[in-house]
Amino acid sequence: MKPISFALIGRSGCGKGTQAELLQKHFGNLFYISTGGLLRELAKLDTSAGKSAKQIMQEGKLIPDFMIIGLWMRELNVNLKEDQGALFDGAFRRLVEAQQADEYFKFLERENTLMPILIDISKQEAYDRLTKRRICKDCGKIIPFVGEFKNLEKCDNCGGELLHRPDDNPDAINNRLAYFDNEVLEVLNYYKKDNRLITINGEQSIEKVFEDILDAVKQHQIPNSKIQIPNK
Ligand SMILES: [Zn+2]
Repeated sequence: MKPISFALIGRSGCGKGTQAELLQKHFGNLFYISTGGLLRELAKLDTSAGKSAKQIMQEGKLIPDFMIIGLWMRELNVNLKEDQGALFDGAFRRLVEAQQADEYFKFLERENTLMPILIDISKQEAYDRLTKRRICKDCGKIIPFVGEFKNLEKCDNCGGELLHRPDDNPDAINNRLAYFDNEVLEVLNYYKKDNRLITINGEQSIEKVFEDILDAVKQHQIPNSKIQIPNK
């Protein structure tokens, strides 16, 4: 049996990060990979590529596909063990990236072991969550605008004061949400074509979303069979 890997896709604010943490806890042996995190690390480097990445990001422009692909590929090349699955948080976001990921998993002899999971929330829901979520002034914990967290008055981790995130302004948020509609929908269609995309209703409690993901994973038989989409 080949280890299963996950690609968590969804609009900003859909709760990908939280679900990634839960998956990691549940399955134990998953290598977590966040393209956004890798890009931020790259931009800190005192190298030629680091400087270029930093400049492109500051101008709000797009980092080229090959760079994104190169980053996660190198990370997996040097870290992913044979018995370990990969857990992509917020990938894949462009068609060529999704296609290259399939080639890469073929190279690993892990065909049909990558499960793309869409955590589906509407644009409006995403907007509300992004404009209303808060961050702890002391420990930096992000408090989502979901369920019981909406009424939290102090940080549930350290008791610190809760503030709105400085990057959560309407223009920046609209840009991020437009990006999803423009680029990521192509990726979703690519996965839908061969019936691989697992769509989870993200407008439920964190626990219920996770339960639905686990149900979907259980229905996925490896190797060689196609991923099955669970009945709702
Ligand atoms: Zn705190």
